[in-house]
Amino acid sequence: MAKQGIKRQGRQQVEGVSKSGRAADVDVLQSLVTEMLLALGEKPGRNGLLKTPERVAKALAFMTQGYHRDIDQLLNGALFPIEYDEMVIVKDIDFFSMCEHHLLPFYGRVHVGYLPNKKVVGLSKIPRIVDAFARRLQVQERLTVQIAETLKSKLNARGVGVVVEARHLCMMMRGVEKQNTVAVSSSMLGTFRSQPQTRLEFLKLIRRGSVGDSD
Ligand SMILES: [Zn+2]
Repeated sequence: MAKQGIKRQGRQQVEGVSKSGRAADVDVLQSLVTEMLLALGEKPGRNGLLKTPERVAKALAFMTQGYHRDIDQLLNGALFPIEYDEMVIVKDIDFFSMCEHHLLPFYGRVHVGYLPNKKVVGLSKIPRIVDAFARRLQVQERLTVQIAETLKSKLNARGVGVVVEARHLCMMMRGVEKQNTVAVSSSMLGTFRSQPQTRLEFLKLIRRGSVGDSD
């Protein structure tokens, strides 16, 4: 992480943390990481580990900054009135999150579709909504539902579909050790739930090759 991202304000804070939320306590995290290294049988004083507690604490603060994101603030000024009423799709949004059961990463792609109701959101805001919910301790199913419900309510959309495809390091490095398993979850709301036609169109569009792919 870039050095300029860190500010010192009594307690260390990570840039981008909204004023409304309490920032992760980097100082406390740092001493806990030292304890953890000791518990693992390591010597926190050895050369390679000297700055590790500080690095881990800052990385954790960065990876959980979604707790302090205010969605209304994030969407402020990015909702536009429009007559367009066809499906809007943003697919292949990369995300990185951390499973709340093992504190190990899970990562993959999010595909989002919605049917507007006189209002659309700036396209760049959708990945930022994904990040706001991914950068927390999560389970994939909740992440999927939170993204869908947020879009549905903030846009008053007629329907929303969200599909998340992810690999979980807790499955790949330990446990079942299935390296190639991709977990897929989806949330369909409004017309995406009530109209099979709409749902199918969405699923077909997100399955097509990316722009520029030859398929
Ligand atoms: Zn896990």
